[in-house]
Amino acid sequence: MTEQKWTVTVDPEICDGYGVCQRIEKSIFQPAEDDDVVRIVSQPETPEMLERVKLAVRRCPKLALKLLPRDSAE
Ligand code: SF4
Repeated sequence: MTEQKWTVTVDPEICDGYGVCQRIEKSIFQPAEDDDVVRIVSQPETPEMLERVKLAVRRCPKLALKLLPRDSAE
């Protein structure tokens, strides 16, 4: 059985760009250069990254992050 992969998404309409998520997982969340929102630059590929992304989803003050099973997010 293959391991379930997950895709994290950000809603740019509600993200405040303050960067709580970025402080938790810099390899995935980066500030967008041209806007005051965060940009998703990669996806969680290891269990450790996935745990940090789950923490970022829980800590996001605007509830702007969503974590979806990769098959349903594509
Ligand atoms: S924690 Fe949430 S609101 Fe803050 S930058 Fe990240 S996605 Fe945006």
